[in-house]
Amino acid sequence: MNKPDFLSVKSKYKFIFDHFIDLIMVCDAGFTIIESNEAANIVLGKGESLIGEKCYYVLRQNKRPCLDCPLRDTINSGTVIPLVKYDDRFNEYFEERCFPILSGTEELDSFILTVKNVTKSRELEEKSAQMKKVSALGQISSGVAHDFNNVLTVVLGRVQLMKRLTSDPYFLKSLDMIEKSALDGASKVRKIQEFSRPSTKTLNESVNLKNIIEEVVEITRPKWDAASKIKGILIEPILELNDDLFILGDPSDLRNAFTNIIFNAIDAMPNGGILSIKTEQTDNYINVSFKDTGIGMTEETIERVFDPFFTTKGVLGNGLGMSEVYGIIKRHNGKTNIQSEVGKGTTIKIRFPSAKQSIEKTTDTSIEQPDTFSIYIIDDEEYILETLRDFLTDLDHTVHTNTDPKQALADIKKNKFDIVFTDLGMPGISGLELAEKIKSINSRIQVILISGWALNLNESDLENRVDFVLNKPFSFEKITFTLSEAGKKLAAFNRKASS
Ligand code: ADP
Ligand code: MG
Repeated sequence: MNKPDFLSVKSKYKFIFDHFIDLIMVCDAGFTIIESNEAANIVLGKGESLIGEKCYYVLRQNKRPCLDCPLRDTINSGTVIPLVKYDDRFNEYFEERCFPILSGTEELDSFILTVKNVTKSRELEEKSAQMKKVSALGQISSGVAHDFNNVLTVVLGRVQLMKRLTSDPYFLKSLDMIEKSALDGASKVRKIQEFSRPSTKTLNESVNLKNIIEEVVEITRPKWDAASKIKGILIEPILELNDDLFILGDPSDLRNAFTNIIFNAIDAMPNGGILSIKTEQTDNYINVSFKDTGIGMTEETIERVFDPFFTTKGVLGNGLGMSEVYGIIKRHNGKTNIQSEVGKGTTIKIRFPSAKQSIEKTTDTSIEQPDTFSIYIIDDEEYILETLRDFLTDLDHTVHTNTDPKQALADIKKNKFDIVFTDLGMPGISGLELAEKIKSINSRIQVILISGWALNLNESDLENRVDFVLNKPFSFEKITFTLSEAGKKLAAFNRKASS
């Protein structure tokens, strides 16, 4: 075998050295560069050789060795300790590594310094860490959302039951407000659930702005009423609202946005004042304006008002109100404009595209009262069980309940039931399995699955076992509607059986 001659080996390594994409420098013990590759020359020396320069100068423009020199850490620890630094000359991150070369007497003779651009891999790492965080957050939040749905089901259910028991206008109004707030809460929970499964929801509900604004004025009444009572100041809302102005939107989101705006206006009038809310239609747009006679905003505040966490209220503010407003208005294809003068007041104008025609929602009264059925409810949450039972007995149905799915199955085998409500997630058995067993006992039984999860159950999951899915929190109307649908299916069954 031929021995490779020294020169060709040297030129081979020089070739590799120069074609390395990372910057490589060899420095003596006094930090003077004694060799540098092409990449280092191009990046740090603008194409000129770096030999003779100090490494700390070419890397950081320092006049003496860097305080955070990775060589020292590497020598002290005995392993190569990389250092990542941001270089604002290039707007990039670089990772520096030092490999010490010791003399025969174990003293530092020289060292190799490599510098690698890690901007891209840092971005990737950050992205993957972010994705992990999002997915962990998604899991946690969907669990929290599920529990919240159970809580809201009881709150909403109880409120709706109480509304049926009273005709006192004051109580009715208060219960209405609790109901609306709980529904807003439910819609927030849905947002948390959508966090892990982004929303594909389209804004297709035609919303009457006048109704929404009047509701929000009522919802916020405790705040401005209390202010006037406690502090002896007067805040007077003046409404000039046109009838029949419709936009496509999400009523709960809109209530949320307008509530934030009104709260801010009230905060801005610590000595009282006037809040005027106006709507008007121009061509294809609807303008809504909220005008207060409060303290107003400086130029800087106007500029930052939509920034999350921007507040001028210290501990009393959280700075999230207006950023939420911004998001909601944007989602509604609206535009916001703020006019404000310190000491005089603020006007917030919002422009929405108007809905072409008003698609009135079907009113709940059109739902027929169903026949009376023999119903079985299975849910391991006792409060939900009771609330649903009270709903259904109120509608004159015969109701059996059980928190234990096994016992329930035994009951269903023995007695005749028309409809079974079952929770989706229960210890020991899933609602879907249970549904299958119920259908195998008697396929005529209408199975209604109640679920607190944001489920994407597809046809094949439900096929032949679940007739209806009722999402928590459910409303009285929704239950009545589902029962009337179940009644239709039962009637069809009976007709088939008798023919
Ligand atoms: P927060 O109300 O918690 O401070 P917001 O996001 O709702 O947070 O509002 C941010 C800031 O915008 C407020 O701190 C306030 O300085 C300013 N701001 C909003 N609305 C008004 C208004 N109507 N009048 C005066 N300042 C306002
Ligand atoms: Mg606010």
